[in-house]
Order: sequence, then structure tokens, then C-alpha cells
Amino acid sequence: MKDLILKAKNKHDLSFDEIVALLKYKNQDEIFKAANEIREKYVGNGVHIRGLIEFSNVCKQNCKYCGIRAQNKCQERYRLSEDEIIQTVSEATNLGYKTIVLQSGEDDYFDEKKMISLIKKIKKYDVALTLSIGEKTHENYKAYKMAGADRYLLRIETTDKTLYKKMHPNMSFENRKLCLYNLKNLGFETGSGCLVGLPEQSIESLACDILFFKELEADMIGIGPFIATKKTPLEMFQNGDIFLSFKVMAIVRLLMPDINIPATTAMETLLEDGRKIALQSGANVVMINITPQIYRLRYNIYDNKNFANVSLSEIKKLLSSLNRTVALDFGSHKS
Ligand code: SAM
Repeated sequence: MKDLILKAKNKHDLSFDEIVALLKYKNQDEIFKAANEIREKYVGNGVHIRGLIEFSNVCKQNCKYCGIRAQNKCQERYRLSEDEIIQTVSEATNLGYKTIVLQSGEDDYFDEKKMISLIKKIKKYDVALTLSIGEKTHENYKAYKMAGADRYLLRIETTDKTLYKKMHPNMSFENRKLCLYNLKNLGFETGSGCLVGLPEQSIESLACDILFFKELEADMIGIGPFIATKKTPLEMFQNGDIFLSFKVMAIVRLLMPDINIPATTAMETLLEDGRKIALQSGANVVMINITPQIYRLRYNIYDNKNFANVSLSEIKKLLSSLNRTVALDFGSHKS
């Protein structure tokens, strides 16, 4: 197994069988250590801080695992006004944030016209802008790009087509994949990722997810453990294995050495030191929730998410304890 880790470190290329073997390898610390070394070698010790605004929890989709799915009638809904979003961006840039991430459910209220207006207003500030608003048409994506959006996050969630269909009623795996390729072809820095530990998910399908990220030439990959959430059809299932999530993330770092990889909120939600372990196992990005307090508790995509919220000063303290720094540039994927 040591040879396999060495191969991953030197060649950044593994076969399907080799990835499966690593995912099953018990001595996970060796994989984490290797990913940490490769992270340092390729993207350095700077950590990019992104300011995340969850601007609407209205969603027309019904992903089985998600707390803001349309059929969850217990979820109180909200939308930020354009003024509230711009005010939040203004405060964030004053604090030094270099990237704003706008995330929401799939909310058709924010149509192309409203999004273009938002994007143009945000881009008047000195920030990179990431959108994470779900599946849209090629024309929509093109319009967002032309308005100035820089990056887009859209997780494939799983490449197991049967599982994808079960988890996403009335959605199409082929369309999600098409969206990702459209984003890439339009010149967005494109982020994707998967959930780890969905019911019936196999180790083999996680290996396929990793190979898919490489094939897409993704610029960012976010890995999140599945968190069983109340008022969803999956509330009775077990949470995903957090250490398997770290392992998937670490292997992604070994195979895609210079991309951006966040220490995800879901990791910190499942494990108190989740963010710290992720930063020492390949991650080089942290997202800080800057959604106005009055709305924050309502973006309940999974249970206990808000316990993982952290302030900029707490992150700075954590980074200095790890001998890491806050990166001062926009944190684009350079290659
Ligand atoms: N609507 C956009 C989309 O589809 O990309 C962005 C919002 S969506 C709520 C953001 C991410 O939350 C999803 O990609 C999914 O992986 C994650 N998520 C939702 N429910 C989750 C759960 N129960 N456990 C872990 N992650 C979850």
C-alpha cells in the first residue's frame, strides 16, 4: 500500500482498482499525511477564506437527504432582498473577504434578470464571485458568466446513476453532468463534489466519483459526509462515515494536486475537530457563513449545521495554530 501512496504522490494518477484499495486501506493516517504534503507542495500554506451568503432556502427540488427540499413543509422559508445581499457583501469586503459565495436552493424567483443585476452589483466590489444555485440552462450560465460571475459550485452528489435516481426524484443525472460540462466550457472555475455515506452507496462508486472529478478537470472539489436529517425521507438512516469522507478528500488532493478543496461545514458538523483534520489532510479553503443572523438558522440543509458556524477571528486562530496563513489573493485555481 505504501507503493500505491507513493505512486499517487508522484504521478497523481491511479487506476479504479488502486483507488478502491486506498479507500479500503485501514491505515488512513498515511493517506492524510501524503495529501497534506502534496497540498503544501502545490498550493502552499495559505488558506483561502470564502464568505458564504445563503440567500434563499426556497427550493423546487426534492433531494431525499436535504432539509430544504420542497416537500419539507415544516421548513420556514426566506429570501434575502437584493439590498440585504449587497449590504452583506459590502461588510464582508470591508473585513477583507476576497471571495463571495452566493448559495441557495433552486429558487426560480431569482430568475436570470435578478441574478444578472445581483452579479453586476457584487462585481463592483473587489471580489471573486462564486454561484451555487443549482441546475440552470446553458443560456442562464452564459448570461451569469457575461455579467461577471467567476466560479460555480454544483456537486454531482454521486456518479452511481441508480443511486442518483433514487436520491433525486424528477432530476436527471445526465442533465447534472451536462450542466457541469457547460459551466466548464463557458470558462467558469467549476466546482463539484460528492456526498459520502448515502444509503446503498458503495466504495466502488466513490472511486468512480473521484475519477469523474479528474475527467471533468474540476477546479474545486467539496466532499461532504451525508448527514441524516429530520423531516427528510432519510432521517432514520445513519450518518456518513466522517473518516471515509476525509479519505475521499485526501485521495482527491493526491490525484488533483493544485485544485481548491474546502474543509466542508458538514465535516465540522459531524466531528468537533473536523475542519482542523480536513486542513491537515489536503484542504486549503474554508467557507465562513456570513448570512445575516436572522436568516441563518433557517438554511437547514442538514441537522446541527449551525453548530459548525465559525467567525473569521476563530479561523485565524485555528490557522495560526496549524502554522497556516490566510491567503490574501483571490484564490483562483491557477492552472
Ligand atoms: N441548490 C444548489 C445545488 O443543488 O447545488 C446548492 C444548494 S444545496 C442545498 C448544497 C449542497 O448541500 C448539496 O450539493 C448537498 O451535497 C449538500 N447537502 C444537502 N443535504 C445534505 C445532507 N443531509 N447532508 C450533507 N450534505 C447535504
